[in-house]
This record gives sequence, structure tokens and C-alpha cells, in this order.
Amino acid sequence: MPIGIVVVGSGVAGLHTANLLARRLPSSAATIRVVDPTGQHAYQPGWLSVALDLAPSDRLSRDVRTLLRPGIELVLDKVVRLDPTAGKLWLSRLGTMSYDYAVLATGTRLDRDAVPGLEEGTLDFYSLEGASRLRETLREFTGGTILVGIAGVPYPCPPAPLEFALRLEEVLRRRGIRDRTRIRYLSPLNRAFPNEVASALVEPILEERGIEMVPFVNVEEVDPAGKRLFSLEGETFSYDLAILVPPHRGSAMVDDSGLGDPGGWIPTDPATLQVRGYDRLFAIGDATDLPISKAGSTAHFESAVVAEQISAAIEGRLPDPRTGTYRGKAVCFVGLGGRRATIIQVDEDHPPRVARPSRFWHLVRWAFERAYWRTLKTGLGFRAERFLPRI
Ligand SMILES: Cc1cc2nc3c(=O)[nH]c(=O)nc-3n(C[C@H](O)[C@H](O)[C@H](O)COP(=O)(O)OP(=O)(O)OC[C@H]3O[C@@H](n4cnc5c(N)ncnc54)[C@H](O)[C@@H]3O)c2cc1C
Repeated sequence: MPIGIVVVGSGVAGLHTANLLARRLPSSAATIRVVDPTGQHAYQPGWLSVALDLAPSDRLSRDVRTLLRPGIELVLDKVVRLDPTAGKLWLSRLGTMSYDYAVLATGTRLDRDAVPGLEEGTLDFYSLEGASRLRETLREFTGGTILVGIAGVPYPCPPAPLEFALRLEEVLRRRGIRDRTRIRYLSPLNRAFPNEVASALVEPILEERGIEMVPFVNVEEVDPAGKRLFSLEGETFSYDLAILVPPHRGSAMVDDSGLGDPGGWIPTDPATLQVRGYDRLFAIGDATDLPISKAGSTAHFESAVVAEQISAAIEGRLPDPRTGTYRGKAVCFVGLGGRRATIIQVDEDHPPRVARPSRFWHLVRWAFERAYWRTLKTGLGFRAERFLPRI
């Protein structure tokens, strides 16, 4: 009787894990099912370009069936609850499902209600609908004060709001309205970015481009009618346009199964990626409580670890410590405008590294974006990464 593996979620984390498992395990050894209600996979980094009117919105999602390797079953339904002790989950339409191993790759959800006035008073690029709304507003924008900031941590892709501010500045310059626009970047920290090395690199670029960096702004409330933002630190900021990353939480299913911490993030072993207290349940990608960047690259590196952990257990051997242990690796491109980009790399074994901004990293990112859909199915990204220069 084949072992039953269920992957919940068909984002980067879920698709990579399911496809890697299908490559490694014959169908006689395991059946692999991916459960997701949408049937669509979204390329989320593209939302930023949609908001800036630099990319069309209709090429950013694909049917999950075209991204799964043969033999993987797609179940179009939502998991409403999971009982890790019984190895059972409840679906909203199709009843119950039992599993031997489950991987929770349920990502994040937006929690705009967590900050009063946020929904009515601000815009964002953290969903396709949000990015499309922002694009329409920016098309009409003719000048004034724009605030770019963060209304709650953690959120996916920590450099995204900074990149947005830099690329927005470039777009407004091209449109000839930069001199009529004040851009203020509100950081919840004492610097532009959590990573000190990246901050040291980016802050002079912000200054050079006339973007004001305002430290210690933790958003408490927004007054949509008066167009004012209030910070926990007691400051008030007036705006014509406020673009804020909304607060995020883990999936409702995590809360409803009693698995999450107060933010709905899943307590996860940082090395094996097992959900704490359960040998056969794994968490991966944005859904975990790990103190590392919520990023597609994190999900990508974690998926190889989970695939090795589960394959080893099914094959009755110990996981290979080199491939079956996660060491906090994440890699993030940051577009700086002017066809320049940098790359930030973190892992447990080295201090954070940041590459000198260059055209080269802009081109690497461009190539990665074109290869994205193939990397999901083939795991090509794991091999291509070895050919990049060390930073
Ligand atoms: C604007 C923006 C820019 C970004 N830029 C970058 C970047 O440059 N580089 C980078 O590495 N990362 C970037 N990211 C982050 C990256 O996109 C995410 O970290 C990544 O998509 C997370 O993948 P995931 O699979 O964990 O979650 P998701 O992709 O969010 O997928 C979660 C899936 O789980 C499903 N799901 C949730 N609950 C249930 C349930 N109860 N039952 C069944 N299915 C469920 C959802 O439908 C969804 O399909 C960016 C993100 C944004 C928003």
C-alpha cells in the first residue's frame, strides 16, 4: 500500500515540495496530493510591477495542473482543519482525507482590519486586486506627498516596499512629475532595512534619489478622510497617497486547527522543518514561524529539505544531513531602478552578504523571472544557482 502524502497549498513552497517528492518517489511507494481551493499559482513578485504599470496583470498566474509533475493529484478544495495526531484533515466540500505525511504550505493572508482606517485610507501591492487598484490611482496622480511604509511585520519579501519606493521614484521622474512629488519612506526600524549591511548600501541610494527615510514609524491608525497617518511613536504624517504593506497572518486553517502562535504562524523546527511535536507533519514557506525572510527563495530551499526528510522516512533510512537540514538560506534580489539590482544572501553559516549594485544582477533577475515557471516544475533553480558568482 503506497504511503499517502498531502501537500496543503500550491504556492512556491507547495509546488516545489510536491514536484521534488514526485521526482524522487515512484508511485508504487507514495501517492502525492496537492490541496488548494484556487487551482491557480500566482507569481507574487510581479504584483509590484503591475502596480507601477510596468507589466500586464494577465500573465502572473497559471493553472496549477500545468505546473505539477505527472502522477500528482490536484484536489480543488480548502482544508478547514487538520488533526495531526489522527493524521486526518477536513475539506470544506469533499469531506475528510487521511495522510501519512502532510506538508503545510499555506502561506499568509492579509489582515487589513488590524489597523483602523487602513482598508479605506491606503493602497498596496500585496494582492493582484490591490496592485491593479494602485496602478489606476497612480495613473491619475499628478503630484503631492506619497508615503510608502509597512503597517505590520512580518510580511513577505522584506525588501519589497523599499524596491517599490525606488522604482516609483523612477516612474514619476519618467512621467515628469517627480519635482511635484515628495516621497517619504517610513521604516518601523532605526534604519531602512532589517539587514544592517543592506541598509548601509541602500540608504545612500535613497538620499541620492531624494527619497526621505523616516525611521521608527510603526503605524497605529489611518484617518482616511483627513489623509493622515498616526504612528505608535506619536507622530502624524499627512499624505496625498499612502502605500502601506498590510499586516499579514497565517492561514485561518492553522488557527482553526490549534496549530498556530498568536500571529497564526506554525511553530516549526528550524533544521528539519517538522511542525514542533509532530514527526509526520511539516511546515514550509511563508506559513512558518521561523525568524527568516518570508520569500520565494526561502520556500525553494526549504522544499529540498522537506523532500529529503520525507523520502528518507519512507525509504527507511536517516536523512542525509547535507540535504535534509535547513540552514536558514534565503536569497533576495532588490531592484534599485536604473536597470541596477543587488542580491542579498543569508544563511546560518555566514554573515549576511550583499552584492555591489550592478546591471549584472538586474540581468540575472530578469533571466530568473523568465525561467520562473520552468523552475517550479523541473527544479531547475536548484541547479542554476550553483553557477552564480559568489558574493
Ligand atoms: C509584492 C511581492 C513581491 C515579492 N518579491 C519577492 C522576491 O523578489 N523574491 C522572493 O524570493 N520572494 C518575493 N516575494 C515573496 C514570495 O512571493 C512569497 O514568499 C512566496 O510566494 C511564498 O510562497 P508560499 O508557497 O509559502 O505561499 P503562497 O505563495 O502564498 O501560497 C500559499 C497557498 O496556500 C493556499 N492555501 C492557504 N490556505 C489554505 C487552506 N486552508 N487549504 C488549502 N490551501 C490553502 C493558498 O490558496 C495559496 O495557493 C514577494 C511577495 C510579494 C507579495
